[in-house]
Amino acid sequence: MRLLITNDDGIYSPGIRTLARIARRFGEVCVVAPDVERSSTGHAITSNRPLRFHRTEFEGLMGYRVDGTPADCVALGMHRWEGIDVVLSGINMGPNIGNALWHSGTLAGAKQGVLFGARGIALSTPVTGDEPDWERLEPFVEQVLELLLPDETLSLVNVNFPSAPRGLCWAKQSVRHYDGKVIPGSDPMGRSHYWFTVEPIEAVDEGSDRWAVERGYVAMTPLRLDLTDHGELRLAKERHPLAGSLPAS
Ligand code: MN
Repeated sequence: MRLLITNDDGIYSPGIRTLARIARRFGEVCVVAPDVERSSTGHAITSNRPLRFHRTEFEGLMGYRVDGTPADCVALGMHRWEGIDVVLSGINMGPNIGNALWHSGTLAGAKQGVLFGARGIALSTPVTGDEPDWERLEPFVEQVLELLLPDETLSLVNVNFPSAPRGLCWAKQSVRHYDGKVIPGSDPMGRSHYWFTVEPIEAVDEGSDRWAVERGYVAMTPLRLDLTDHGELRLAKERHPLAGSLPAS
């Protein structure tokens, strides 16, 4: 099995080092990741300038750092290495649950893998102290890869590890609440500015990724790229029949 590893925290993050170390037990690994942190860049691509990459020593593995986004890294990596089966993205230092998936660069790395014909798995964990306890997470990361890598029916999965996991579970994306918040402030010169930040959410949807992680479970959420609301599409066609529309299927 050929695995391409990326992240959005940058190639020097301890999270990607941990993931690569564990992933190499499952197949051939190559690492292509941003040269600096690109968190919250979502699925952005660099189309107004060329991309450059440099070889980086990566624990004895093939490693490349790219002056681009996670989506750029995966596109470049899959262009240069044929036959990539799965793109692994992470392990992100910070959770990617609920509506955070809309701006996650970590998930975008995995999504880009799916768009280029591979499968994708995004992995994230919260940071409570200076750094996550990677040793504690390692057996759970291994368990998740053992479960997901051979299952070819799951094309895109978002995985969140709590700080101290006690088991694995399947969960849905929590979309009921949004933790993004704009907080006004002022700089030392008295000029006003704004911080777009995240505020912890108290209420959680039962069975959701947030709910599972709060209970100490590794949340695994199968995702799809098709954002079409098929129910609404069918109803819209009924309410407003248009000559060019295909019949409802
Ligand atoms: Mn990140």
